[in-house]
Amino acid sequence: MRIDIITVLPELLRSPFDHSILKRAIDKGLVEVNLINLRDYSTHKQKSVDDYAFGGGAGMVMSIEPIANCINALKAERTYDEVIYTSPDGELLNQKMSNRLSTLKNIIILCGHYKGVDQRVRDHFITKEISIGDYVLSGGELAAAVISDSIIRLIPGAISDETSALTDSFQDNLLAPPVYTRPADYNGMKVPDVLLSGHAANIEAWRHEESLKRTKERRPDLLK
Ligand code: SAH
Repeated sequence: MRIDIITVLPELLRSPFDHSILKRAIDKGLVEVNLINLRDYSTHKQKSVDDYAFGGGAGMVMSIEPIANCINALKAERTYDEVIYTSPDGELLNQKMSNRLSTLKNIIILCGHYKGVDQRVRDHFITKEISIGDYVLSGGELAAAVISDSIIRLIPGAISDETSALTDSFQDNLLAPPVYTRPADYNGMKVPDVLLSGHAANIEAWRHEESLKRTKERRPDLLK
């Protein structure tokens, strides 16, 4: 898979891809992540990528020209399955969406800034708009990192124990059950007996029960 992230702050995005599961997936060649500096596609002397909003009002708007130049240059090299714009008014990211995106070959993620991008970019270049939650961030970089992380860890081979991603919360519309590790008794705080029993079927049943209980309590909407 290839993820091309268009940003005015590539430095802000380096670190998330330089550690842990994401770094390993990149090192293994399961995914290629490119941070593309939008300013490289600006034809202005000052490499500016934004301008005042038509009609007035506070806040700058990201211009269509550099974005169009950048996306067209990328599209000339390969076809893209999705051109994503990170936006608070987009479709809310969830595990189902990440599962689908993780099966794609090439995607672009465009990070917005200021008041967002010129609407014509959204109308003519973007195929999918994603929000990571009902709050406003300063820029799309953190959203792009969240989206990429949730996708990359689902690519087969990214997580060493493959079943691990499949037993995470939201797969099967259930929250994950509680987990414990050693010691089995910490100052009288004990691990449930069943987990120490070695009885695989009972452990599986207990985990399923706990998942259901937790989902009913915390996220009954998932069970509908
Ligand atoms: N004026 C816009 C917000 C702009 S915030 C509005 O009210 O909708 C600047 C940029 O940060 C956005 O263009 C978007 O790319 C990113 N962003 C902010 N909040 C986000 C969220 N919840 N999910 C995804 N991207 C977000």
